[in-house]
Amino acid sequence: MNGATNCVFCNIASGQIPSLKIFEDETIFAFLDISPLAEGHLLVVPKKHYVSLADMPEDQVAALTRHLPRLMRAVMGAVGAEGCNILQNNGRSAGQEVQHVHWHVIPRSADDGLGYRWNASSYAEGRDEKVQKDVLAALTVHAH
Ligand code: 5GP
Ligand code: ZN
Repeated sequence: MNGATNCVFCNIASGQIPSLKIFEDETIFAFLDISPLAEGHLLVVPKKHYVSLADMPEDQVAALTRHLPRLMRAVMGAVGAEGCNILQNNGRSAGQEVQHVHWHVIPRSADDGLGYRWNASSYAEGRDEKVQKDVLAALTVHAH
């Protein structure tokens, strides 16, 4: 059994909690968000319980994300959206409220009033090279 019994998205993916399903295969489940940012707002989840994208095996990520272009085209076509945000929050500090990894598919139009704070900053002299060095070192440590 893949599911965490007290996890809302495990229970949705297994059909124990009802949802408005859009797509399902052996590894993923896509359904309408109950509190949409826009009509057609979808959630796409792996059937197996992972908290974060960082916990997922690469093949599971590929098995899920390969469906995003088609789901996105369907949603955009159905609601007549001009654009679409794919949003994926990991960790409470990043706005993740449901602790089962998920992708938001959010159709957008120019006048929809949605937005988010994108407080762009800048690096102090030399700081960007230091950050690059640290990330490259971490990438070596975390290589598979
Ligand atoms: P997060 O903030 O974790 O990235 O997003 C969680 C999303 O799950 C929210 O957009 C919320 O509306 C949605 N959600 C939470 N509980 C349910 C539910 O029981 N059913 C459905 N369809 N969506 C849910
Ligand atoms: Zn779960």
